[in-house]
Amino acid sequence: MTTDPGSNHLFGAIRAAAADSSRPFILSGAGTVTYGDMLDRSAQYANALVAAGLKPGDRVTVQAAKTIECLLFYLAVIRAGGVYQPLNTAYTLAEVEYFLTDAEPVLAIVDAEGVAAMQALCDRISGARVMTLDRGHPDSITDAATAHSAQFEDVARNSDDLAAILYTSGTTGRSKGAMLSHGNLLSNAQALCLVWHFSPDDILIHALPIFHTHGLFVATNVVLLAGAALRFFPAFDADGIIDAMPGSTVLMGVPTFYTRLLANPRLDRSKAGAMRLFISGSAPLLAETHRQFAERTGQAILERYGMTETNMNTSNPYDGARKPGTVGLPLPGTQIRVTAEQTGAPLPPGEVGMVEVHGPNVFSGYWRMPEKTREEFRADGYFITGDLGMIDADGYLVIVGRDKDLIISGGLNVYPKEIETEIDDMGGVVESAVIGVPHDDFGEGIVAVIVGETGSDLDGDAVQRHLAGRLARFKVPKAVHFVDALPRNTMGKVQKNELRKRYDGEFRRQTGDQPDKRVPS
Ligand code: AMP
Repeated sequence: MTTDPGSNHLFGAIRAAAADSSRPFILSGAGTVTYGDMLDRSAQYANALVAAGLKPGDRVTVQAAKTIECLLFYLAVIRAGGVYQPLNTAYTLAEVEYFLTDAEPVLAIVDAEGVAAMQALCDRISGARVMTLDRGHPDSITDAATAHSAQFEDVARNSDDLAAILYTSGTTGRSKGAMLSHGNLLSNAQALCLVWHFSPDDILIHALPIFHTHGLFVATNVVLLAGAALRFFPAFDADGIIDAMPGSTVLMGVPTFYTRLLANPRLDRSKAGAMRLFISGSAPLLAETHRQFAERTGQAILERYGMTETNMNTSNPYDGARKPGTVGLPLPGTQIRVTAEQTGAPLPPGEVGMVEVHGPNVFSGYWRMPEKTREEFRADGYFITGDLGMIDADGYLVIVGRDKDLIISGGLNVYPKEIETEIDDMGGVVESAVIGVPHDDFGEGIVAVIVGETGSDLDGDAVQRHLAGRLARFKVPKAVHFVDALPRNTMGKVQKNELRKRYDGEFRRQTGDQPDKRVPS
């Protein structure tokens, strides 16, 4: 018997919500995992972790396929007082070396076929033990767990103790490990349960990866704290999700989920109509996608905004206007302000500046990077998100883009979103990304990269002419490219750094014998 279930800050709350052990937690083709099963199996894993040498505060790195075992294992690490450290499954061994050196886990979990190579790496750099969640392997922690008791005394952890380290994607320099405490995760999941009206009757379609804050914390912790169920998908599957809608209540997705669902002719009111909520986040949802989804299904997608370091910050309201193109209002307990980047002075509504966040959801800093941590917090505790935004007349936050995506052309600030919105509104355009690349005269020159509709005869000149009638001249892209698709990561974020690399030479005068005819006059 667990003697003091409340002493583990996060899991104590999950345990309290799991009071009815016969209720379903995970529904999948392979069967149902009840809350009782979840408690038993995560206890067995927690015992196996302790047997493998885990002590409170030790890191456990997990680079493994999305499986039900992996979700139960995450809970076991929390129960055992460990620090969960998931890694994107796409990372190569060479990339993983940095994370292992930095996080210094005692245990690394990988898929069976990767055990030998990962163990060789760990022997060289850290000495961590490598195991797998897959069954039938000599180093299977799942097989080892079956021999352990289904009782575990949860390790006491308070709200400030670390529960997880999630590395940022590191598009500007080295990836940083965001230290997330039990209190960060619990307070955020509680706020989301409240504002999104979660109840034990909910069945959430879970098709997100679980190495990222969205699928691991937002989707999973909210379900657990509500005592609700999740319908498990190992990956996005448009037909499977559409078929699951009539028996489910909520979908959490990245914007790409919604564009892919819309591309499927089987999506209609009869499928989506009974769902109570569609949520989008992790990247901007096009207002057009919002409109098309509402037209097809009768459902207004609810957009929210968050990041690895802060968990979720804002959400459009459950009751009340869900405004396309905005990320809504601050969550209960969270404060948002928009400031002048250089001085940190708060700006009035309507002015674009740096989005800063404060609240119990905000992380305590970057793992072993005190300098970086100091740079990204204001003296009064607000975290400088790196996102540019403004607060509209109704108090809704509008994200204009990442600070690093801001274009400075001829000394003037240009917000890509403003130009992208104009382009996206043009007939024949699916979507666009606007970037700045080095320009010999202007510092940065603006490039528009556009995905056109099939069969559209729109060309770059027409785009430039259209924009010239609507935007100041310095904002009109000096080059326009049409592509089949924008480069995106697994969370649906457009990889602007990829585009900047691709078009880097666009406006540089060439020294060779091939003059660049695209250099504008
Ligand atoms: P990550 O840490 O991977 O979750 O990325 C966080 C970043 O994603 C934020 O700082 C924003 O730039 C972006 N982001 C997340 N949600 C939204 C949203 N609803 N609209 C626009 N950008 C978003």
